[in-house]
Amino acid sequence: MTQPADFDAIILGAGAAGMMCAAVAGQHGRKVILIDHADEPGKKILISGGGRCNFTNIHTSADRYLSANPHFAKSALSRYTPHDFLALVERHGIAWHEKTLGQLFCDGSAKQIVAMLLAECAAGNVQFGMGSPIRAVDHADGHYRVTVGERVVTAPALVIATGGPSIPQLGATGFAYDLARQFGLKVVQPRPALVPLTLGDDGALFRALSGVSAHVRASCGKVRFEEAALFTHKGLSGPAMLQVSSYWRHGEPIHVDFLPGEQGDWLIDAKRSEPRLTLKSVLARHLPARLAEALCERLGEARELANMPDAVLRDIQHRLSRWPFLPNGTEGYAKAEVTAGGVSTDGLSSKTLEARHLSGLFVIGEAVDVTGWLGGYNFQWAWASAQAAAKAL
Ligand SMILES: Cc1cc2nc3c(=O)[nH]c(=O)nc-3n(C[C@H](O)[C@H](O)[C@H](O)COP(=O)(O)OP(=O)(O)OC[C@H]3O[C@@H](n4cnc5c(N)ncnc54)[C@H](O)[C@@H]3O)c2cc1C
Repeated sequence: MTQPADFDAIILGAGAAGMMCAAVAGQHGRKVILIDHADEPGKKILISGGGRCNFTNIHTSADRYLSANPHFAKSALSRYTPHDFLALVERHGIAWHEKTLGQLFCDGSAKQIVAMLLAECAAGNVQFGMGSPIRAVDHADGHYRVTVGERVVTAPALVIATGGPSIPQLGATGFAYDLARQFGLKVVQPRPALVPLTLGDDGALFRALSGVSAHVRASCGKVRFEEAALFTHKGLSGPAMLQVSSYWRHGEPIHVDFLPGEQGDWLIDAKRSEPRLTLKSVLARHLPARLAEALCERLGEARELANMPDAVLRDIQHRLSRWPFLPNGTEGYAKAEVTAGGVSTDGLSSKTLEARHLSGLFVIGEAVDVTGWLGGYNFQWAWASAQAAAKAL
């Protein structure tokens, strides 16, 4: 005869998605255990948003996520919205503000979000199994069995919420992918995303601008982001570059419009109104002086506008609006805010995040092949996918 299970659900990973899922399932009367090899829950939340946690984005919609199936995230995102999460934040008396582009941050500290999730878990009588490695996970007779440290726990449902391998120094691993494969789910090739891009020797002039930032429009293929870009001693970073990095593939160029605010023949207009200006001094009105200088050096132009034919100015306008960079790589998982790719949505229900072929197995959060833009979208996916699974447990 089969032994009765110890829990209704075992949730692996006490990060954003795991804590939310455990809290909601617990509050729905499920007996839940939340297991993590880290000694503290929510470590990524604590370092997120520069310590203030950009916990959601009010412009959340499925087209702000990358996935092999662009429709997959719609169901969960529409059933648990940024306003739902905000209502929870407000119920806990956490002060917040909108920074820019719909990004909501705590006024105080990301610690408040972790404390809120822990309080919600306590309200659901969630048990914690922290600080021991998960030695084995198997499934037999309708029960999932997890060996953690010296302990064995069983349940008819298992939720994989162990995230992706970005920032391994915080304990992040690709464990979710190993488990998913073990249970017959496919994995879309994971890759670092929201990650600084590196430039080779051909970008040395720009690497020398380390610390300089400018408001640009960066594009990769058909996607474009108008935000700040930052030159680093290795290459390109800042929000605009992090955003395009998620779409970038090896061998592809990134294009940068250094003057997204300028329209038409603006350089020719400048020549008519102030012919004695040099190109460098015109650019320095819009861009940091060091960047203006580097661009002029690359363009090989030191002349005054008056001495430059209109055709040359037109060509320069065009080059400044589509400046190509050919990154030779990224700074990798050590610096990536998220991992793109992950457990394929093909095998999961978009409504519940449950495996189609194996009852009781769920995958939520960053482990799934759903990756948000920079700006609170990744936490919103963690909350929404967790809610969807919790309600099905
Ligand atoms: C520096 C940084 C800043 C960020 N800022 C923001 C932001 O402001 N806004 C935003 O929306 N997103 C932000 N993100 C992304 C966001 O943190 C993640 O998308 C989100 O945490 C994913 O939630 P998750 O629960 O799926 O995974 P995680 O929060 O990563 O949780 C996974 C949990 O699983 C555990 N785990 C992993 N492997 C194992 C294993 N083998 N055994 C046992 N346990 C394991 C980990 O210890 C962890 O507790 C940031 C990420 C980084 C790195």
